[in-house]
Amino acid sequence: MPFRQSVKHFLMHLSWIFILPSSGAYAYQTQLPDLGSPDLIEYDTQTEQRLGRAFSVALHTEFDLNYDPEILNYIRRIGERVITQTGDNRAFSFYVINNPSINAFAGPDGVIGIHTGLIEAVRSEDELASVIAHEVAHITQRHLSRQYEYQESEGSIASIASIIAAILVGTQDPNAGMAILMGGQGYVTQKQLSNSRQHEAEADFTGIKFLYKAGYNPKAMARFFGRLSRQSMSNSGQIPEILRTHPVTENRLAAAEDRAQTMPPFKPREDNGDLRLIQLRLQSRQKQELGKLFNEIPLNDDQRCYQLNDLDSNPADKNITKKLKNLQCLVKLAKSESKQPLYTDLLLEKLTGIINNSGLPKKDRTDWVSQTKEIANFAQILYPQRQDISIRYAEFLEAIGDSKQAKSLLLQHSSDHYNFLINQKLAEIANQNKDWGYAYFYQAQAQYNIGNIKYTAHLLKQAKEKNKNANNDLTAEITLFENQNRNQLNSVEKTEE
Ligand SMILES: [Zn+2]
Repeated sequence: MPFRQSVKHFLMHLSWIFILPSSGAYAYQTQLPDLGSPDLIEYDTQTEQRLGRAFSVALHTEFDLNYDPEILNYIRRIGERVITQTGDNRAFSFYVINNPSINAFAGPDGVIGIHTGLIEAVRSEDELASVIAHEVAHITQRHLSRQYEYQESEGSIASIASIIAAILVGTQDPNAGMAILMGGQGYVTQKQLSNSRQHEAEADFTGIKFLYKAGYNPKAMARFFGRLSRQSMSNSGQIPEILRTHPVTENRLAAAEDRAQTMPPFKPREDNGDLRLIQLRLQSRQKQELGKLFNEIPLNDDQRCYQLNDLDSNPADKNITKKLKNLQCLVKLAKSESKQPLYTDLLLEKLTGIINNSGLPKKDRTDWVSQTKEIANFAQILYPQRQDISIRYAEFLEAIGDSKQAKSLLLQHSSDHYNFLINQKLAEIANQNKDWGYAYFYQAQAQYNIGNIKYTAHLLKQAKEKNKNANNDLTAEITLFENQNRNQLNSVEKTEE
């Protein structure tokens, strides 16, 4: 489909100067107008969605995303709580980026990114939720309102999305990062400016309302940004990434505090201790010096049990007896703390690791398997919507040879808004069972979910070719998928011709 010669877009958080290529030469330079200037044009939904998809593909292909089911689903749970308060029916997407800088951003079409550095820096879930609510507010307030123009082609949308991603994710040296990324592509550089003060004030004002309605402490936003700001001042000019794009002023903090005061009395939501366990998870995955993060707050016994088992991940360690002994406290917690299914997740994860790496000793196997299945079944009943539990349970079932139930557990999530991890896991299981047609088909659906339509089309072709023994179920499923998503799949075929 040929595009219009020039399309106007909005961008949030940033003002831009783009120098754009035209047939290999720099044709013109665009200075972006200020927000609110008369020539501001809203871009149409379809174009916004295309840019959002390209942005999501750029995040997934060019950056180190965190695919840990527990960490990702934790952020999504907070995000869901916040967005149900917005009255905005857009499909928001939340991703976690492995990056130690304290940062979060809102990109095109409701894509929100959270850096692992931010998750580690917050002192409560309310603070984490306050940043998410602030980003969500930038989107609902349509602050993504900086226009740019570019020569139309599928290629250029992808390139623009890459540039946006590179800037929003940020690097230690943005210019060096951009140079590597853009190389000789012809896109020269951009100039990153802060969100305007007016946007920050609006995002705080609206975000605090979302925060409060979602059951979080409305004072958390001013508290978090205030602390960061004070720390950065005492920290020899080290400014956290998030303060570059969301500048903090005395006025802003005072206004945020006032806004929180206007909320009716705050009734805190029940905290099941998710944040601490998720921080421990991040810590053990990043092999940081233990204790560095939590010097001030000692771990309680339950958290210590979680940490002990989470760290014990050396597959070469054949000391099964010791490992099973460590798992005992986790079994106890998984049974008694039904409000905290992360214990069940970790039990499943670690036991699966033992089975896959060295196998359970025969004498223990029956007991461990039946006990763990009982715990997991219960968690499934309590939290049917939790992908992390389904994924860990499916891995466990696959390890004990029950692929069929593993698959059916995962398929319960096939129509979730975000089903990339689910489809990846389904593809992995199909692969292990040498079911190549389905392996490609689930990969295709995973790629479709993150907006990679071109790759989806390629994988669907592969799936059909691999379906040599003409599995009629698979043929029917592929046809159904193609019919349901015909418009998008067709748009790729046409641009490729
Ligand atoms: Zn902001």
